[in-house]
Amino acid sequence: MKLTFLPHTLYFKRPFKIAHGVRSSTPIVIIQIEHEGTIGYGEASMPPYLGESHETVLAFLSKANNVIDKFQNPFDLESVLHEVDSIAPGNTAAKASIDIALHDLIGKLENKSCWKGFNGDKSKTPFTTYTLGIDEPEGMKQKIAEGEEYRYFKVKLNGENDKQNIETIRSVTNKPIAIDVNQGWKDKQFALEMIEWLSDKNVLFIEQPLPKENWDDAHWLFERSPLPIFADESIQRFPDIEKMKDCFHGINIKLMKCTGLFEANKMIKRARELNLKLLIGCMSETSCAISAAAQLSPLVDFADLDGALLIKNDLFEGVKFKNGKIELNEMPGIGFVQKV
Ligand code: MG
Repeated sequence: MKLTFLPHTLYFKRPFKIAHGVRSSTPIVIIQIEHEGTIGYGEASMPPYLGESHETVLAFLSKANNVIDKFQNPFDLESVLHEVDSIAPGNTAAKASIDIALHDLIGKLENKSCWKGFNGDKSKTPFTTYTLGIDEPEGMKQKIAEGEEYRYFKVKLNGENDKQNIETIRSVTNKPIAIDVNQGWKDKQFALEMIEWLSDKNVLFIEQPLPKENWDDAHWLFERSPLPIFADESIQRFPDIEKMKDCFHGINIKLMKCTGLFEANKMIKRARELNLKLLIGCMSETSCAISAAAQLSPLVDFADLDGALLIKNDLFEGVKFKNGKIELNEMPGIGFVQKV
């Protein structure tokens, strides 16, 4: 097999404020793995806070080249992924790009949609949430109007003006909302009061209310919260699941955190055994990585896969949404084509 890769930059439709300025773009790398004339595509997406960059992904893929080169058979998936994982710790987005490309390649060689390989039922896909960035009341109302076709909204809160922002949304729509705090509530008592206040406001769940290492407080909140709490930053890979069950009601699985579909599928199975609810999420990604995550969506409870909807220059056409419901297609592999 032969690996090639190319760095790209994705641009957001709506740049957003961060601590020191404005974020308007995100780095990604698109890769190809070729086997006897068939090509599988993969993607690494690197939000700055996770520590990977164009430089680290390209350096990792240069090393992974030797592993891919050595294997003649893409169906040796587990062995290939194991060797790639052993190259260096971390580098989860770079590893995910290889996993996605191999799944795409295998599906194309078998002439079979990847989701069928995971025993998914196409009719059981969840609805994706649609992110409403925090804005002034008028801007908020405009975003709600833009997301009209979506059944669920996602709102990011951070401890500043949270109640006011929710009240603005609720003055316009009663649609269910998922809330992502991104570790933004620093105090367990404050978090509990906020969750209690939110509990009669048609909220689906609260994602990562407290700082990720705060296990004692997570457990305290888990025992008292009237709404389900999902881990995002607190969980990355398969071994992390065991400590989730006493601290969270569910977990957010993202391919870029967990090294791809193979490990994500293992995590879904184990999470079910532990009675954890499941959300499949994404970074800012093209329809390549989004379509890859969607292959597992029939197996989970919720989806947050709006990443490609929020960028200006999607390089692929893949999974679609009908009124927000994920629509898997019958194309072989991950089910996308490169835009020309
Ligand atoms: Mg999150």
